[in-house]
Amino acid sequence: MARKNGCELKIDLMCSGLRVPALVTPAVSTGMRRTRAGLGSGLELIVRGRSRDTHVNAPVTERFARSSPYRLEEREDGLVIFDDRDGARFTVEVPPPPAWYGSTTSRGTTMSRLGVMQGTYLAVYVGKVCSFWTMEPPKRCAFCTTGLNVGNAEEAEKAVEDIVETATAAKRENGVTFVHFNSGFHSDSGVELVAPYVRAIKRGVGALVGVQLAPDPDLSKYDRLIDMGVEHFSFCYEFHDPDFFRKYLPGKDAHATQKRFFDAMEHTARRLGKGRVSGEIIAGIEPLEDTLRAIDYITSAGAFPTICIFRPLSGSDLEGRQPPSYADMRAVFAYAAEALRKNGVPVGLAPNLEVSIVPTPADILDLGPDTPEFRLFVLKNRLMKRAAWPYFRWRMRRHDPGAF
Ligand code: SF4
Repeated sequence: MARKNGCELKIDLMCSGLRVPALVTPAVSTGMRRTRAGLGSGLELIVRGRSRDTHVNAPVTERFARSSPYRLEEREDGLVIFDDRDGARFTVEVPPPPAWYGSTTSRGTTMSRLGVMQGTYLAVYVGKVCSFWTMEPPKRCAFCTTGLNVGNAEEAEKAVEDIVETATAAKRENGVTFVHFNSGFHSDSGVELVAPYVRAIKRGVGALVGVQLAPDPDLSKYDRLIDMGVEHFSFCYEFHDPDFFRKYLPGKDAHATQKRFFDAMEHTARRLGKGRVSGEIIAGIEPLEDTLRAIDYITSAGAFPTICIFRPLSGSDLEGRQPPSYADMRAVFAYAAEALRKNGVPVGLAPNLEVSIVPTPADILDLGPDTPEFRLFVLKNRLMKRAAWPYFRWRMRRHDPGAF
């Protein structure tokens, strides 16, 4: 078996999970946080690589992880992951939980209940718990655990001032460059809900901002958020096959519709340009051909696919399922890498932006075909990343973008 590169190990850990012996657990698991939809509920790891490090959130507590071939060991020289199938070993680090997790804001809220580090960016859920969890009967997405987390592991509602203080601490202590806001479904898309946070981050912190909300039929609202400085949108439509969309996302099907996701993604991708917007899907539930169709559609719209490897989260409706196979997922991400090239979608340009909960477009460049065209694509991305630095520095200046 050929030794896996960082991206391949990330994919396999997400498919197989990681066994963490009881003796190691207390030392490393203090940073494990079950927030938002739950995808980041595992152990944050950094796999050191020759050219770049890979950040991964490895499932640990889910049932399937108990039979993983991967186990974590604490050696004198640090932490190592062993693959029991072939004895391969990978040196890893567990980033210490940010010191600010234990701090409180001036309003007395513990910062770890406001935002969470998922790789090198700050992730914040805003608004009340998603209404798909509270409807009678519930219409929650089958893979989601937001309703178990918001109000428990994190604050049920978050004051704008608290988020500014938390993001300031994350920027100061962790060099955070990107703050990502998401929310569940409310009576509307949530654009009005998120706008004050965007303004406050731009004015008081100075960081790149991403937004992930239910799609709004009034596309002019996105124009206004773009005018306020939002750099990135992601639209989680999850499944390309309308039957799967209907079956596993009853709330989104009834109250958002797949078409609305497509319209919002296409509109914002047109407005912001290639590589700035993401279509988010889950791989490992619908047939692979549908996942590949989704990748073709998303990249042809100038967006990049954010592909979540299905994680049967404890407490979700699908907790009894098995995650997909490594071989299938590797094929999906290799396909996505080539689709990005074919459609000329630049990736990984933003500074210090590593994501642990999904294999990112920048991670998957390692899986592309060994062709001159793909090598040129990788080289162009590297050069663009360097050239884009002054632009991003300007975008990260503190300024008041005005009200929504
Ligand atoms: S929209 Fe679906 S995935 Fe998002 S919070 Fe609500 S139930 Fe969870």
